[in-house]
Parts: sequence; structure tokens; C-alpha cells
Amino acid sequence: MKQLLSLFLTISLLCAFSGNSVTIESAAASETAYVYICTGGSATKYHAKATCRGLNNCRGKMVKISVEEAKKQGRTPCSICNPK
Ligand SMILES: [Zn+2]
Repeated sequence: MKQLLSLFLTISLLCAFSGNSVTIESAAASETAYVYICTGGSATKYHAKATCRGLNNCRGKMVKISVEEAKKQGRTPCSICNPK
């Protein structure tokens, strides 16, 4: 019975360790990409570069956000600077 308990403890420890390493790996693998958006009313695109000429007509503020956030807002990639 004692052996079974120590085996159980070893397994749960191993799980805890492998769980940690997986978290570290996925954090390193998923580099967050940032894009630039214009907060002005009619802007629907996101940009790879802050200097993109598509942003020249921006009437609002230029904001740097993650690609995920830009997509959540329903924005599409700019055809001039082609963000990934
Ligand atoms: Zn652009």
C-alpha cells in the first residue's frame, strides 16, 4: 500500500513537471505579432507597419495591438503592407 502511494506521488509530480514544461514551450513558440490600426470611424484594416501609406488617411489615433485583437475587431489585413 505504501509503494502504491509513492508511485502515485511520483506520477503526479511527473505530471506537474511536464505540465510546466509544456506551458513554457508554448509560450516561447507563440510569439505575439503586433499590428497597427487606426481608430478612426471607417478604418477596417490592420497594418504591419506604422509607416504604411494606408494609415496616412487615419483621422483617429494609431494604436498598436496584437493580430488576434485586430481580428476580433473584424479587421482585415492591409493590401499595401501585407501583415501576416
Ligand atoms: Zn498597411
